[in-house]
Amino acid sequence: MNSRKKIGVLSLQGAFAEHIASLRKLGVEALAIRLPQELTSLDGLIIPGGESTVISQLMLSYGLMEVLRGLAQDGFPMFGTCAGLILLAKSTIDLDIEAIGAMDIKVRRNAFGRQVDSFETSLSVPALGEAPFPAVFIRAPVIVETSSTVETLASLPDNTPVAARQGNLLVSAFHPELSEDLRLHAYFMDIVARRAYSQ
Ligand code: GLN
Repeated sequence: MNSRKKIGVLSLQGAFAEHIASLRKLGVEALAIRLPQELTSLDGLIIPGGESTVISQLMLSYGLMEVLRGLAQDGFPMFGTCAGLILLAKSTIDLDIEAIGAMDIKVRRNAFGRQVDSFETSLSVPALGEAPFPAVFIRAPVIVETSSTVETLASLPDNTPVAARQGNLLVSAFHPELSEDLRLHAYFMDIVARRAYSQ
């Protein structure tokens, strides 16, 4: 089923090559996307980690921002990791950048400070099954507020949400593409498949 789905990975800056590799391991057709016209005929889009300010600037320069806002409104599946989470959030504390702003979450950038700006931890993600998920955090944001229609998929031990879903939008503060565990990408493919089915 996955082999017939085409997923774009926004490839302006950041960890896009790793997402493409993870999707291909799942047998998904994965394409690097840089221009608005490349978005046609896709079934979903991954927005990778990197620098949200840089990606936002490049999205504006390439004419992608408005197109992606429109697609998100139409229920097009998108998966944002780390900086991608920031770009999908409706609001970010202390950050004045243009974002897609589609998901009802408020986020804080670089939430872990300099001492622990990168770490790996095992997270319980019940939607992915019992085995804990190896979550790699790199200067990661956290979610500080969610609306009632947002489902939290994973939290840190202090209950801070770090992965969530709202409709066909999926976000994680960590980098699933930097681990060997493909379950979060597979979960996104499930969102994509269900959307195609219900169209
Ligand atoms: N700190 C970055 C930002 O604010 C995100 C880091 C990442 O994507 N790994 O955009």
